[in-house]
Amino acid sequence: MDAIERTLATLDFQKPDRIPVDLHNFQPAAAAMGVGLHEVFHDGELLAESQIRAWREFGHDVIILESGTSSSAEACGVEVIYRDDAAPAATTPVLERLEDVETLELRDPWTTFPWSEILKATQIVAREIGNEAFIIGRGDQGPFSLALMLRGYEPFLLDIALNEQPELIARLLDYCRATATRFAMAQLEAGAHATSIGESPSGPDVLSPRHYRRWAYPAQRAMIEEFLSGGKLIAHHICGNVESILPEFVATGAQILEIDHKTDLAKARGAAWRRSTILGPVDTNLLAFGTPGEVDTACREAIETMRADAPYHTGFILGPGCALASETPSDNIHALVAAAERYGRND
Ligand SMILES: [Zn+2]
Repeated sequence: MDAIERTLATLDFQKPDRIPVDLHNFQPAAAAMGVGLHEVFHDGELLAESQIRAWREFGHDVIILESGTSSSAEACGVEVIYRDDAAPAATTPVLERLEDVETLELRDPWTTFPWSEILKATQIVAREIGNEAFIIGRGDQGPFSLALMLRGYEPFLLDIALNEQPELIARLLDYCRATATRFAMAQLEAGAHATSIGESPSGPDVLSPRHYRRWAYPAQRAMIEEFLSGGKLIAHHICGNVESILPEFVATGAQILEIDHKTDLAKARGAAWRRSTILGPVDTNLLAFGTPGEVDTACREAIETMRADAPYHTGFILGPGCALASETPSDNIHALVAAAERYGRND
C-alpha cells in the first residue's frame, strides 16, 4: 500500500498494511531551513519547500500542512505577531463591541493575504508529492477559535459568561463558521486530501464543558456537517484533556480527531471506536526533550492501547499530539516514524 491507500483504509476502518504516521512539524521544518515562521507563513513557496524537504527526510505518510494558527484571524484584520520560537499569536482584535459583528464581511481565500500564500503552498505540495503523501491542508482556525481572536479572548469569554446578547454571539459564531468553511474548502480545491479545524481554545482547558456544548459544539458540528454531506474529509483538533467533552467531540462527525497525551487514550478510543480515527497522541515535550528510546516506548504504548482487542490495527494515525517544537531533534522524529513500522504492521 502507498501512503494514501494506507491512510484511506485506516479512515475507513479497513485493514491497512500498517498504521500511518503523521507529522505536525511546521516549526522544526522552518527551523531546518533556517527561516522564521513569519517568512514561511507569508511565502507559499517557502512553506511548501519546508514541508517537502521534511517529507523527503522523514518519509511520513500524512503531512499536516499548517496554516499558521492565526492566519484566518489575520485575513479578517486581526493583528498577529510572529515569533521564531513559538506559533504565531493574535493580538489586537477587530471587534471592540459585539454589535460590530454587523460590519464583518466574508473574504475570498484566494485573494486575501495570508490565506492566498498558504493555498499556494498547498497547490505546490499537492503537485509535487500529492500522489505519494496524504495531505491535510489546515483550515485553521475553527469557528470558536476564530471568534475568540476577532473579539479578543477575555471579552468573548465574558460575553459568553454574561450571556446578555446571545443572538450576537450566535451571529459572530455563524460568521466565523462561514469564514472557516470557505478557507477549509479552498484547501481541498488546492489539492489537499483532507482539511481540518483547530479548536483547542474550545476545550475544557479554556472553556467549560457547559459552554462548549452551548456555543462551540453546534458551530463545529454545523461546519463539519457541510463537509460530510459533500463527501469530504475533515480533521478536528482539540489538545489538552478532552475527556469531559468526548461524546460531543466524536458527535461532531469529523473523520479524524486529533488528541494529545493529556487525554486518556483508552477513553478516547472507546468513544471514537469505528466512528472516527484518532490522530496523535505523542507528547510534544517528550519529542522535544526526551530520547529516541523514550519516544519509541511512548509510541509502542499508544499503538498497543489503540489496538486493544481489535483484530487488526485501524482507526489510528500515529503522530505528535500537537505541533512539534522548533528544537525537536531529528532523531526523535525518526524514532516516531520508525515506531509505526516496528509496532504497527498488520501482518
Ligand atoms: Zn494543539
